[in-house]
Amino acid sequence: MRILIAEDEPVLASQIKTTLSSEGLTVDVAVDGAEAQYLGETEPYDVIILDLGLPIRDGITVLKNLRSGGSDTPVLILTARNDWTDRVDGLDAGADDYVSKPFHMAELSARVRALIRRKAGKATPVFTKNGVSFDTRTNQVMVDGVSINLTAQEVAVLSYLFHNSGRLVSRNELSEHIYQYEGDRDSNTIAVFVNRLRNKLGSDLIETVRGRGYVIKVVA
Ligand code: CA
Repeated sequence: MRILIAEDEPVLASQIKTTLSSEGLTVDVAVDGAEAQYLGETEPYDVIILDLGLPIRDGITVLKNLRSGGSDTPVLILTARNDWTDRVDGLDAGADDYVSKPFHMAELSARVRALIRRKAGKATPVFTKNGVSFDTRTNQVMVDGVSINLTAQEVAVLSYLFHNSGRLVSRNELSEHIYQYEGDRDSNTIAVFVNRLRNKLGSDLIETVRGRGYVIKVVA
């Protein structure tokens, strides 16, 4: 799952990035409104965290432009503590949720996970299929009740496929959702990660559609 953070305060941006990265999310940072809009329009993010007070172009304008351009990516806005009108303006402009500064990182990341789940149409935080369970809160993976160690990339691939279960996902789409903007994207490595997942989790969880991609059949 790939997240854009649009935040011009470097310390805060870096704290958010560190927190979300440690939870297995792939994170890009935009430092002004123009960059936020460009990345939001050209990269397939799963959630955008958008500070409203951005230089060059303010967050509300960025949000309105993204929505009028057809983007339906979930957007969580960061607002000043006591400015309730900002929250109203943001929600009315198409934001899905908000957090007021200052906030606890745990609350922000819980809200991000909830937005990811909601976009995927899943109400509960644990996916279970063919004896494999994946807890989106902790990234813990279990097979028949036994905890399995996965690398960060393996978790990223598994998480994306579970959140998109029932839908064929191409290697290219997977690579766009697990690598950063400036990351070295090689869709061939995706096949390596999937093979390792099949070895660790059983061969019947992730189905390969030859030449097209991968699918986890609908999760109950
Ligand atoms: Ca700001």
